[in-house]
Amino acid sequence: MSAILFVNAAIFDGSGADLYPGEVLIEGNRITAVARDGERIDRQRAADVVDAAGATLMPGLVEPHAHLTFPSAVDRIVPTFFPPIEEHAFYTAHNAKTLLDYGFTSALSGGATRPALEVKLRDEIAAGFLPGPRLKASSSERNPDGTRRGHADGPEDVRTFCREMIALGVDSLKLVLSGSGSIIPKNFDELAYTDAELAAASEVAHEANVNLLGHAYNSESIRMALRHDFRAIYHCNFADDATLDLMAAQKSSYFVVPAVGIIVAGLTRQNEFSPTAPERTPEAQEGLKMIHEAQLQLLPKLRERGIRVLPGGDYGFAHNPHGRNAWEFELFVTMFGYTPSEVLAAATRDGAALMNYSDRIGLIKEGYLADVLLVAGNPLDDIRLLQDKDRIVIVMKDGAFHRRAIERSPALAATA
Ligand SMILES: [Zn+2]
Repeated sequence: MSAILFVNAAIFDGSGADLYPGEVLIEGNRITAVARDGERIDRQRAADVVDAAGATLMPGLVEPHAHLTFPSAVDRIVPTFFPPIEEHAFYTAHNAKTLLDYGFTSALSGGATRPALEVKLRDEIAAGFLPGPRLKASSSERNPDGTRRGHADGPEDVRTFCREMIALGVDSLKLVLSGSGSIIPKNFDELAYTDAELAAASEVAHEANVNLLGHAYNSESIRMALRHDFRAIYHCNFADDATLDLMAAQKSSYFVVPAVGIIVAGLTRQNEFSPTAPERTPEAQEGLKMIHEAQLQLLPKLRERGIRVLPGGDYGFAHNPHGRNAWEFELFVTMFGYTPSEVLAAATRDGAALMNYSDRIGLIKEGYLADVLLVAGNPLDDIRLLQDKDRIVIVMKDGAFHRRAIERSPALAATA
């Protein structure tokens, strides 16, 4: 087992604290020593010394609302949303690699378009056969024909759906609680489940120790997610003030992932990646604008209530492909006034908490798993750096280099 020592690093530890100069020792798949402010780790302990030359060493990023089965990545736009399985499996695997290429060493799925693909992919990645983030796999969220299983057909139907998904090995059950405005424009006010149906889902989820994830646009759907102990409440765009106060009162039990980039991309970058995409109807365009306006109001209200908000979500569409996920960080800073360190703490420490991994990832800390990035420059000065994968000169997951575009330092290794 060879030890790797990073020296001359500026460390962002994931807590939101400022950078500090330091050294980090990796032994096996764990961080075993962290030295700060001029302390030195014994050079003899490492077979391999990496001179970070002032680059930023930070925890790997967490995507809290991934859809790896959504087919498009920055380097390959797929014109269809539901490709045949022989293609779909490879696209999905490529998307996992793409996330890791861009520094996302963990991902919690926000729903799959096939029931078992993510489960298999998660296991292939964990066994070391395919590159990709630590993945929490989700149930299917919609079928290729656009219908949704377990959808408003009574508690027994929901229970059966949840049990089938759990039997496949999912980590989470994703339920679309409200209209999304995407398939039917502006249907935000619709509810897709009754309380009794969600109580059934919640009971099955608790028995099996899996998380519930909910797509919730309107206030009533958010309240239902709160009542039935959802771990992540996605979007929340049209939460009214009374619902926001209720959310604040329960803020330790869930995370909000609004998914901002997908909306901004829809309004401004529709044709950048897919010039042949059909034009949106005026009604759908109007719906997108309503969501955008709502998000501009929502995020500051969530922030001022101390509700845990995670950046990410809904990458994988042709106009918002996998690999562009870190754009979300920039939007949080420029549109909502988050500081870069707040956003990055949310994308590391808080993302780990969402995954129930607070005890092992999301921080640069002794005993934690070695999911580590080395970034040329200071992302706290310029949050956009993280969108450029060439600046992420090292991506390490579980103590192994996925990318290493920086030399080891034989001279440093020799001088103990
Ligand atoms: Zn989604």
